[in-house]
This record gives sequence, structure tokens and C-alpha cells, in this order.
Amino acid sequence: MRLILLGPPGAGKGTQAERLVNEYGIKQLSTGEMLRAAVAAKTPVGLKVASILEKGELVSDEIVCAIISDRVDEPDCENGFILDGFPRTIAQAEALDKLLEEKKLTLDGVVEIRVDEGILLGRIERRASESVDGPRADDNAEALKKRLAVYSAQTAPLVDYYAKTGLLKTVDGMQDIDGVFASIKQALED
Ligand code: AMP
Repeated sequence: MRLILLGPPGAGKGTQAERLVNEYGIKQLSTGEMLRAAVAAKTPVGLKVASILEKGELVSDEIVCAIISDRVDEPDCENGFILDGFPRTIAQAEALDKLLEEKKLTLDGVVEIRVDEGILLGRIERRASESVDGPRADDNAEALKKRLAVYSAQTAPLVDYYAKTGLLKTVDGMQDIDGVFASIKQALED
């Protein structure tokens, strides 16, 4: 099974992706996590993107598309994968269509976790204060506002993009974690 998870920062994409990994035996591919790992390891890509991540802006389409293209070829993705945090722009979605076509792979669904953006700030502030490793560098209020604005402007249009393909499944992300997961499973198995 090959899926995309869509939703603004704080919608619970990471949490739901972990559950989907266990349920379907597929791999979670989070571009945010891969980029943070590159920053921590000070790789050439990491050095290039560190300040962009900190500001809550988007890394270039070229960088993230290359990362994903390489990653889906790894043997651990044979069973399928969940893209978490990618694509984030129409250009990335088009690049993804192209690279999947070249690899002769198809998508099974695009799950949009829809939430009330007004309460996201509270959730993210909690995540920042509870994190055992300390707050993520991009979890400060300034960067969060930026990330929400970037989501509305650049990523939200993907909802229409995937609605047109018939792959879009929208679930209510305001339920508790179990409720959201049950809705996702139902949407995928319908
Ligand atoms: P996330 O963990 O998905 O919220 O991503 C954290 C940060 O990594 C984002 O604020 C961006 O700076 C960067 N990032 C992650 N995925 C992408 C992507 N698909 N395109 C551009 N930038 C990304």
C-alpha cells in the first residue's frame, strides 16, 4: 500500500503514520525527519537546509524530490510506504506523479487529516513543552505561524489536486487519536 498523509503541522500526521506502519507493514517516509537527521549529521544537504528549517520555510522542491526518489527505491519500501510531509507543493505533487510513473508504482490513497487550525497552536505548544529531547528548533511560535501560513498557501491546494484524481480521503482530525485512526482505516478499506 502506498499512501500520502496530508494535514497542517500539529494535525497528528506523525502519530497516525506510526499506527499505519504497524497496521499495514509499510514504511513511514517523513521528509521532515530525514531533513532533521541531515541537519544533525551535518551532511552537505543538512548544512544547506538548517536555517530554512529553523525559519519554518520550505526546502527546495529539488532537494526533497531527490530524497524521496532515492528512498522509495530501498528494499524496505517494497511493501509500500506512507509519505508524511511530502508532497507539500503542487510542483512536488507533479514531480511525485512523474517519478512514480517512471518507477511503475501507483498510489492507493491520499488521506487528509482535517483539523481546526485555531486549536493547532495549543497542540504544538504542548508538543514543544513535552518533548523529551527539548523543543524542536522549528516549534517556536514564530516558526509555527510561518509553517501554518506556508501550509495554507502552498500545501492546502493539494487537497483539490488529489480530489480530482479520486484518491482523496478526508477524515476528521478533531477526534481522539484512536478515533482518527479508525476513520483512516475505514476510509482506506471502503
Ligand atoms: P515536518 O516535520 O514535516 O513538519 O517538516 C519540518 C520542516 O522540514 C518543514 O518546516 C520544512 O522546512 C522542511 N520540509 C519537510 N518536508 C518538506 C517538503 N516536502 N518540502 C519542503 N520542505 C520540507
